[in-house]
Amino acid sequence: MDIQMLGCGSAFAKTFYNNNAIVYAGGKKLLIDCGITAPLALHRLGHPLEEIDAILITHMHADHIGGLEEVAFQHKFLFHRKPTLYIADTLAGPLWERSLRGGLEQEKLRGLDDYFDLRPLRESAKTEVLPGLTAELIRTKHIPDKLSYSVLLNDTFFYSADMVFDPELLASLVHDRGVETIFHDCQLEPPGVVHACLPQLLTLPEELQGRIYLMHYGDAQPDFVGKTGRMTFVEQHRVYSF
Ligand SMILES: [Zn+2]
Ligand SMILES: [Zn+2]
Repeated sequence: MDIQMLGCGSAFAKTFYNNNAIVYAGGKKLLIDCGITAPLALHRLGHPLEEIDAILITHMHADHIGGLEEVAFQHKFLFHRKPTLYIADTLAGPLWERSLRGGLEQEKLRGLDDYFDLRPLRESAKTEVLPGLTAELIRTKHIPDKLSYSVLLNDTFFYSADMVFDPELLASLVHDRGVETIFHDCQLEPPGVVHACLPQLLTLPEELQGRIYLMHYGDAQPDFVGKTGRMTFVEQHRVYSF
């Protein structure tokens, strides 16, 4: 699979787009999360919204779901088709009721499946989301009392989305489950309250750090180049093959 970050920015970053990814597999494109800046970032990258085959949502923050209203309207009224939407079965209801319904509900369009080919995912169940690409949701901690998921792709690539520092999980993924590569969100400055922060990630053993690429960072990122131990920053728009 190939992965390209549409954006690498934190929720408040202004010099980077929202932390959303395009995964390419089997000649198709899967968007992991669709934040406020996703439609603009796709446009600037030369990918019309129409090219997106499927979207996978990790959790309910605007930098991960804020672009869905535009995606839904454009597909419904301009392209006349439904993009596939993968989301945890626990989040599908709240995504409509607590977020998208306000903008999307009208006449006979009364639910998520009026706009999307909805495919609820069960936690810890592996699903083929594109030809030759499997995804497994792993529930991780982000905001107390709010559901949030990370994604394991093809059994070997872990995408944290947004999560707090969880060294036991990272060690277990690598040692027990054979994960080779980790894309991890990284808040550059402490304290790491709802995200892992860089000083926390730097306490990981070097052999774990060597597998970690940092994403979801703030505008000060250039000041931290060379200060990330054996971890490297994911570069926005660069295509990585794993
Ligand atoms: Zn975020
Ligand atoms: Zn978040």
